[in-house]
Amino acid sequence: MNELIYKHTLHNAIKYEGKANPGAIIGKVLSENPELKKDMKYLSKEISEIIKKVNSMKLKDQIEELKKLAPELLEEKKVVEERRLPPLKNVKNQVILRIAPYPSGPLHIGNAKQVVINDEYAKIYKGKLILVIDDTIGSEEKNIEPDAYRLIPEGLEWLNINFDKNIVYKSDRLEIYYKHAEELIKKGMAYTCKCLSEILREKRAKGIECSCRKSEVSNVLSEWYGMLKGNYKEGQIALRLKTSMNNPNPAFRDRVLFRISERTHPRVGNKYKVWPMLEFSWAVDDYLLKITHVIRGKELMIESDMEKFIWDIFKWKGPELIHTGLLTIEGVKLSKSKSKSEVKSGKYFGWDDPRTWSLQSLKRRGFKPEAVRNFILSFGVNEHESMVSVDKFYSESRKLIESEANRYFLIEDPIEIEIKNSPEQEIELKLHPDFPERGFRKYDVSNKFYISKKDFDNLKDNKINRLMDCLNFVKKKNKFIFDSNNYMEK
Ligand SMILES: [Zn+2]
Repeated sequence: MNELIYKHTLHNAIKYEGKANPGAIIGKVLSENPELKKDMKYLSKEISEIIKKVNSMKLKDQIEELKKLAPELLEEKKVVEERRLPPLKNVKNQVILRIAPYPSGPLHIGNAKQVVINDEYAKIYKGKLILVIDDTIGSEEKNIEPDAYRLIPEGLEWLNINFDKNIVYKSDRLEIYYKHAEELIKKGMAYTCKCLSEILREKRAKGIECSCRKSEVSNVLSEWYGMLKGNYKEGQIALRLKTSMNNPNPAFRDRVLFRISERTHPRVGNKYKVWPMLEFSWAVDDYLLKITHVIRGKELMIESDMEKFIWDIFKWKGPELIHTGLLTIEGVKLSKSKSKSEVKSGKYFGWDDPRTWSLQSLKRRGFKPEAVRNFILSFGVNEHESMVSVDKFYSESRKLIESEANRYFLIEDPIEIEIKNSPEQEIELKLHPDFPERGFRKYDVSNKFYISKKDFDNLKDNKINRLMDCLNFVKKKNKFIFDSNNYMEK
């Protein structure tokens, strides 16, 4: 067995959770021993045999082997890991993380960032990742898509996210939220408010409180019970948190905790009419579910402040909050509401339509889940905004499949040309340029060929053109003529 190949195969396998990738190995081996290029057949055969052996080993044994053979390669891997994700602060007991998607549709590539980062940390720290379906009632614009209850876990499974199988549904926990709301009221930290929101917004901007804020606790409580009993209609009343009217951010002043919605919920129907805002449900659940670290987008900073404010009132020690910058992918239009309406109208053929960019659609297009993961992790965890072209995602994907995917071709906007004097021949094209043992595609050709319109438009008079592995031809005044000079009889 070739030790050089063995060493790099082990190294590669360890890098990719135990499964080696031939493309990358060839490159490494040839860069250390270019002589091997002379016998590619031997090289690819040897590589595929060694891969078979290595891939059948346990990751633990692969690491042991490489430690004996080339410990310096293991060091390198450690450095890469560290660069990928910074360590979590305040890790004491088991790390418990959560992902909390709102079920307005399947998860798409834009949601993958939080999901993958949380999952990576759960794996690094051997922690637990809880899936919380954030199905509070939402709004007319942001409403629940019943299919999402199935599509979200399905997408996560495909992405190899190791989430706890006890899925938590917010809509099962209304009584818990009510109980904590009552405690807040009793502590004098929440009040029922019947003011019109426009007037209130104006007042709050100036730091002026409304009269409801001064209500007695007993009065607030009875109005709160009235809300729960269904004595009020949508928009008539809300429960607000008493923050400070001097808070520098007007949006943070006395935010709504609960409001009334008469819409029907896909899971619990019309059983509840009083619904918490997401921040309140998070504040309660992150504590009760014993979450140790919350990793979320920077756009949720105010929600984080709300949570901290509420934890302080209850004297709870909440989880560490970590904020990451937004990832924008150029060339990808993400809109769950648009996808939803197009899926419903039949314009998109389903939730796995490529235009939705859902995880389901990526699966359908043949991407590997590791491509999504590697793409996300290439940005690391920090507060910087990242703007990146979708081509970066495609290149991550190509890295994974270039060695295993056989080559076929497509001629875009084909134009038929006739090449004068072209011989009849049988052409064999390798299914993969580096692995001739995989076989060939065979074509019987004579003098008619298709070329793409783009290539056709670029043909210049009297220049030699090549149809690779087949023949050369020259264009002369709109005629195409076989060029026998460089022709090798097969
Ligand atoms: Zn008021």
